[in-house]
Amino acid sequence: MGKGRVAVLIALAALIAAFFVFDLGRFFSLEFFKQQQAAIDAYFRAHPLRTAAVYFALYVAVTGLSLPGAALMTLVGGAVFGLSWGTVIISFAASIGATLAFLASRFLFRDAIQRRFGDKLAAVNRGVEKEGAFYLFALRLVPAFPFFVINLVMGLTPMRTRTFYWVSQLGMLAGTIVYVNAGTQIARIESLAGLVSPGLIGSFALLGVFPLIAKRIVDALKARKVYARWTKPARYDRNMVVIGAGAAGLVAAYIAAAVKAKVTLVEKHRMGGDCLNFGCVPSKALIRSAKFLSHVQRAREFGIRTASADFSFKDVMDRVHRVIKTVEPHDSVERYTGLGVDVVQGEAKMTSPWSVEIARADGARQTLTTRSIVIAAGAAPFVPPIPGIEEVGCVTSDTVWALTELPRRLIVLGGGPIGSELTQCFARFGSKVTQVEMLPRIMIREDPEISEMVARRFRAEGIDVRVNTKAKAFKVVNGEKIMVAEHDGKDLEIPFDVLLCAVGRVARTAGYGLDALGIPVTKSRTIEVNEYMQTIYPNIYACGDVAGPYQFTHTAAHTAWYCAVNALFGRFRRYKVDYSVIPWATFTEPEVARVGLNETEAKEKGIAYEVTTYGLDDLDRAIADGEATGVVKVLTVPGKDRILGVTIAGEHAGDLIIEYITAMKHGIGLNEILGTIHIYPTLVEANKYAAGNWKRAHAPQGVLKWVERYHAWMRGGDATGPAQPTPPASGGKA
Ligand SMILES: Cc1cc2nc3c(=O)[nH]c(=O)nc-3n(C[C@H](O)[C@H](O)[C@H](O)COP(=O)(O)OP(=O)(O)OC[C@H]3O[C@@H](n4cnc5c(N)ncnc54)[C@H](O)[C@@H]3O)c2cc1C
Repeated sequence: MGKGRVAVLIALAALIAAFFVFDLGRFFSLEFFKQQQAAIDAYFRAHPLRTAAVYFALYVAVTGLSLPGAALMTLVGGAVFGLSWGTVIISFAASIGATLAFLASRFLFRDAIQRRFGDKLAAVNRGVEKEGAFYLFALRLVPAFPFFVINLVMGLTPMRTRTFYWVSQLGMLAGTIVYVNAGTQIARIESLAGLVSPGLIGSFALLGVFPLIAKRIVDALKARKVYARWTKPARYDRNMVVIGAGAAGLVAAYIAAAVKAKVTLVEKHRMGGDCLNFGCVPSKALIRSAKFLSHVQRAREFGIRTASADFSFKDVMDRVHRVIKTVEPHDSVERYTGLGVDVVQGEAKMTSPWSVEIARADGARQTLTTRSIVIAAGAAPFVPPIPGIEEVGCVTSDTVWALTELPRRLIVLGGGPIGSELTQCFARFGSKVTQVEMLPRIMIREDPEISEMVARRFRAEGIDVRVNTKAKAFKVVNGEKIMVAEHDGKDLEIPFDVLLCAVGRVARTAGYGLDALGIPVTKSRTIEVNEYMQTIYPNIYACGDVAGPYQFTHTAAHTAWYCAVNALFGRFRRYKVDYSVIPWATFTEPEVARVGLNETEAKEKGIAYEVTTYGLDDLDRAIADGEATGVVKVLTVPGKDRILGVTIAGEHAGDLIIEYITAMKHGIGLNEILGTIHIYPTLVEANKYAAGNWKRAHAPQGVLKWVERYHAWMRGGDATGPAQPTPPASGGKA
């Protein structure tokens, strides 16, 4: 805490202490006021302005310092100044005092609290930013919540001071009037407790729910406004129409069919979407073959004198397509039809909030009316508009699977997960790969040493990793393709045969009626949805890559659940999407898996953390497998057994991290992981050893000293130190 803060804290503490030390509270009692009322009234008649000013200042001080007595002062205000002036004076004094308390709490404690609990508070902060005014208004109306607590707590949130002030003034008005009015009858009031009767609290509570009801009304009015220009059908053909049969669409349709809703799933291209056809499945199949080759190349490490692999890239790609074919039935029309989904192959387009027109693959057109629509249209690779890129041509994650010849020289543009996975694969097959990334390191979302671990391995495998290098142009010179890139302010030229663009994927937002319906997209060009995954039309939902913010198959499935359940049962209960524990993995070697915060993010967000690591070079199974590189890195709350996030780099990291995902999801700590039997010898033991390292660092040293003394005492030796060994009777050598 800075010097300024310490000074303010001491000053405030001194003022509050003085109040109690000098027992100033005795002046804030009903009896005292009743005794003095005649004198105060006389003074007020003689000096009305001065009385009002002194009263105002006193009221601000009491509320600003969060001292008890504001309720009594409000009654006194009513008695002295009457209903109208009393309400005006108190309304302003209370709001100003509350705002001072709010500012003091913010100045003194907010940074520290946000630093310590920032991750926990992230959802609260978002809520306050979005709907804080409503919540504050509700709290102000209900006197069941002590006002001074509200002032102090709100100071810790990101609420703007101006918002706090005016919402407080408005919200407290009703209560102020009731109290001031009661004050005008002060002669008849016997105790403060009598004022706060259950009946009165009940009426305030009713007032308290008013803003929530108001919010519902505002939401309904907003919805009415967006629906105003459309004619609602009298009846619906479907409960739900789902646009897109990728991971998200399949899950949404599956859930709808499972709960007996009538659902149509429309897919314009290939069932299973990107994951099955162009993403997870082919990439993991390719990685498998590449990994096999890498093991052949490492044969000597495993005690095999010679090993060679004779292969054709085409055969490898044929296997990739065979794998897709093998997995295909899981996402097929037949399977989903069997599950009760009406699957239509064709292109869907929303023609109103309740109707979807389908241009069927067989040429027919069909329009379905539907109660709800789930948009699960996915994302597509982004090709940056770099001069010359069209001339040289490029493959993307959509088209790379059609290659049948191994590129001799490959440039992979992009150091993210997709670019990195493919970079390593092609290098292992024998392409001369240059990976170009404009940021300072590849896999920028991970901590620097984790990125470096992957980059080091890439370089060791012969990959030319160029960071801080920005592609500026492409050209063809004498039939040779060349990339012009800028590095350190200088241009450099890299010749290549094939360019693979992996610089990100953008949501598909065109071609199915978003514009016609006026559904907005975010700055990152995903469909704008609220926490229930609803677009501005409450019956139109979006999930998966098209809605973001994550672009994974498991998050697509996760968000699809919310869409389906909220769309079908939202009138009874709606669920807010939960992004609190989102894991992912990049399947490079070393594999990198993460859940929750990493160190970089914790620093950026100002969240206090402790780091515990365990190096896989120490793990028996990793050593036996020849995979003894990598790390388990756990972030915890300082001094507490609460996991903030975990990164694992190493063999099967994506599998190992499941234990930590479960722990975070269910509030399990490192003590429990340490107390769980892990099978020996497995890679997953690394999790337990990381927990062990944490435990050792948190061993209660004071207690251990006493335990050591206890053991010494039990041995009958010197309680202050370890007992000396008794020399053998032989006098030395045994
Ligand atoms: C190379 C690569 C590797 C990946 N590896 C992984 C991984 O290992 N793990 C992981 O979790 N994620 C991975 N991903 C990401 C993952 O593939 C996506 O996050 C996931 O496929 C998103 O699913 P989705 O349902 O949102 O979209 P998609 O799978 O893209 O499905 C959307 C579907 O909607 C259809 N569609 C669009 N418009 C219409 C319309 N108007 N009418 C009818 N149909 C329409 C499209 O044809 C498409 O089939 C990878 C992606 C790539 C490219």
